[in-house]
Amino acid sequence: MKILVINAGSSSLKYQLIDMDGEKLLAKGLCERIGIDGKFTYKPQLDGKEKIDAADVTMPTHAEAIQAVLDALADPKNGVVKSMDEIDAVGHRVVHGGKEFASSCLIDDKCIEAIKRCIPLGPLHNPANLLGIDACRKVMPGKPQVAVFDTAFHMTMPPKAYIYAIPYEYYEEDDVRRYGFHGTSHRYVSGRCIELLGNPEHSKIISCHLGNGSSLAAIVDGKSMDTSMGLGPLAGIPMGTRGGDIDATIVEYLMHRHNYSIDEIMNVLNKQSGVLGLSGVSSDFRDLEEAASAGNDRAQLALDKFHYEVRKEIGAYAAVMGGVDAIVFTAGIGENGAKNRAAICEGLEYLGVKLCPERNAQRADEHLISTDDSPVKVFVIATNEELMIARDTKEIVGK
Ligand code: AMP
Repeated sequence: MKILVINAGSSSLKYQLIDMDGEKLLAKGLCERIGIDGKFTYKPQLDGKEKIDAADVTMPTHAEAIQAVLDALADPKNGVVKSMDEIDAVGHRVVHGGKEFASSCLIDDKCIEAIKRCIPLGPLHNPANLLGIDACRKVMPGKPQVAVFDTAFHMTMPPKAYIYAIPYEYYEEDDVRRYGFHGTSHRYVSGRCIELLGNPEHSKIISCHLGNGSSLAAIVDGKSMDTSMGLGPLAGIPMGTRGGDIDATIVEYLMHRHNYSIDEIMNVLNKQSGVLGLSGVSSDFRDLEEAASAGNDRAQLALDKFHYEVRKEIGAYAAVMGGVDAIVFTAGIGENGAKNRAAICEGLEYLGVKLCPERNAQRADEHLISTDDSPVKVFVIATNEELMIARDTKEIVGK
C-alpha cells in the first residue's frame, strides 16, 4: 500500500509518498508560495531519479499544487510510481481536532464539518489543512483520505490536567480547555521509547518536542496525561518566537500602556517573543549559541530561560506521574542540540538522570544518551510524524 502524506499550510504544502511495505519513503518535497509565484521541490528517494529544487510552477490554488505533486510522482523519467492509481490513500495532518476527535478519522462530509467546527479553536491552521483536503478531493476524486489530528493524542488527559481554573461555563459552552499539540510527534517518540525500554507493562515517559514550536508531554503507559501547550500553541515553555506561559495581567498592562489592539498584542506574543524577543538576536538556537559564546548576554539569558523552563516542566511531570522511567528529546533542538540537552539535564541528578557526555555528543536518529547506570533513561529519538500519519491512514483505510 502506498500512501501520500500531506501537511498543508496556507501558502505551502509538504508531502511524502511512503510505501507501507517496509515503511519506505519513496519521495518527499514541498510546494511553496501557492497563490503567489509557486515554487516546487521534489526529492525522489530512489537511485537514479533526479530532484527538482524550488522550480517555478504555476500554482494559483492548492489544487494545482497537488496536481504538480502527482505529476512529479508519476513522471515517466523521474517519478517513483507508474501512475496515480498506485497511490492507495492520502493522509492529512490536521492541527486542531477540538473535543470532536480523540483519534484519526476517515474523511467524509461529516468529518469535514467537524473540522470546520474546530476552526475557531485553530483559526490559523485548520482552514489551511482544509484547503489541502479539498484539493485532494478535487484532484483525486474517490481516493480514500484520512485526517490525523495534532490534538487527538492528548484527549486521554484527565480533567484536572485539561481544565483551566476559570468559570466552568467557559469549558461547557465555549470548549475552553487544554488541548495540547505535537500529539502525533509525542505519540511516535513515546511509542518508540516504550519499544526501546523493552515493552514494559508500565512506563512513565516525559517527551520533549523541542523545535521552533516546543511542547512537553507526560505519558503514562503510552497515554498522554498532561502537556505544556494549551487551548492553542502559545502556551507552555518559551519557543522560537512564542512567549509560552505568561501572567495574563501582562496582556492587559501592555495593551493599556501601548494602546495595542488585541491583534497587536497577540502578534507580540506569537511572533516577537520567546528566545527571539529575549535575545533580540534570532529564533534559531544555533545563532543564539554563536552569539552567546561571542559574549552576548541576552542570547545567553534566552538560552538559560529556555533550559530552565524545560527543566522545570520535567520536574513538574515527574511530580504528577510519581516518577519517570525515561526522558525523550526530539525535533530540531531535541535531536541536534547536544549542548541544549546537557543544559536541560543539568541539576536533574536528584531525579535519577545521569547524562553520558560522550553519548550525548554523538549523532544518531535514535540513541541512549544517559549512562548505563542512570536510573532514568534519556533518549534522543528523531520524530517521524509523516510515518505516524501513514500508519493511521493504512489502518483506517484497511478497515
Ligand atoms: P523544527 O521546528 O523541529 O524544525 O526545529 C527547528 C529548530 O531546531 C531551529 O529553530 C533551530 O533552533 C533548531 N536546531 C536545528 N539544528 C540545531 C543544532 N545543531 N543545534 C541547536 N539547535 C538546532
